[in-house]
Amino acid sequence: MKIIDLKAQTAAIPIEAPTRHSYASPSHYIRTMIELCTDEGLTGVGETYSTIPPAAFDALKELLIGQDPFQLEQIRIQISQRGYFSRQPLLLTPVEMACYDLQGKFVGLPVYQLLGGRVREQVPVSAYLFYRYPNADGTGEISNPDHMTAYCQSLVDRYGFQTLKLKGGVLDPEIEVETIAALRKKFDSSYRLRFDPNAIWSPATAIRMGLKLAPYDLEYYEDPTWGISGLARVREKVPIPISTNMSVIEFEHLAPAVEMKAIDCILTDPWYWGGLYHTKVLDLVAKHMGLAVSMHSGVEFGVGLAAMLHVAVTMPNLVHAIDSHYHHLCDDVIAQPRFVYDQGCLHPSSAPGLGVTLDEDKMQRYTELHRQLAENDYGYPPDPRRPEWYARVPMW
Ligand SMILES: [Mg+2]
Repeated sequence: MKIIDLKAQTAAIPIEAPTRHSYASPSHYIRTMIELCTDEGLTGVGETYSTIPPAAFDALKELLIGQDPFQLEQIRIQISQRGYFSRQPLLLTPVEMACYDLQGKFVGLPVYQLLGGRVREQVPVSAYLFYRYPNADGTGEISNPDHMTAYCQSLVDRYGFQTLKLKGGVLDPEIEVETIAALRKKFDSSYRLRFDPNAIWSPATAIRMGLKLAPYDLEYYEDPTWGISGLARVREKVPIPISTNMSVIEFEHLAPAVEMKAIDCILTDPWYWGGLYHTKVLDLVAKHMGLAVSMHSGVEFGVGLAAMLHVAVTMPNLVHAIDSHYHHLCDDVIAQPRFVYDQGCLHPSSAPGLGVTLDEDKMQRYTELHRQLAENDYGYPPDPRRPEWYARVPMW
């Protein structure tokens, strides 16, 4: 089997209401999708962050055409070492994903079988809770602890989530701590509760707030501040496990993070870490460094989510629910029915490959939507309601 073509397109899908985090408030989620076509007539799909535009794949076409999708080590090296230490994991990962999809389709096996087989059938997913701006019709606003607990209850009722994650770094820190207190009051300790200020608090603020959060039995305190040394300072003073998806994002960061006793848990992200196979490597290495593993979500659509689920069912050290923005999306670009939660869990398809393909009509609709957004505002204004605003670190 040989690769004969690569296609890439960026799509934007509306979400239920504008979600707020410390760097932006999007009203759509945006991702770049790729397809690798082969001389066998098989097509493999991959997905990556919207910061990688379709044009970024043009240079890869020449490199990939004629290659065998089973020769993944060669492909990894050729993409990530095009310049001295160029790495480019966000460019490599969708290609690796599409190659695994092709391998699975070629041999008739789901991708999780190619990654070592399942250690679990289902993947628990957290209820990803965001403060939100209202929609134009006034619906959807979440701006205080009462809104948040009511919203969380609606998600638990609808999807069966057992793990609740609050994205912070948006409102005054005291209000965010009150929100955690209200969530814990409403949801007893049979629910895991995690909190992520998104690295926007100073170490001093993160310590002060962390001590106030201590009674609420948090599963972990995610990126309470930025940087490995900042996390180490917080971890020394606050009796809550510390996790990160912002300060330990490649293998070189592991040794200093362990040496400085900065973290308890890494939220891996198959894109940051260079693909599904390297995510498996991280799972093993982290275990031997005494670290747990969770999984970050980068607003992925159905292809990216499928890839996350395929690798997640094979990772023994993944002891925490994965994150996903999927329940915020109003639609998807896959041709198959959308993923459906079963008691807060999702599972990968057992069809060959990733088990998902792109729906042509939906791709047309949502690439057109992205084109319209890009004409108006470059697709991702930090906060359309505050034109003068930009993210500062620290914010508090
Ligand atoms: Mg995070």
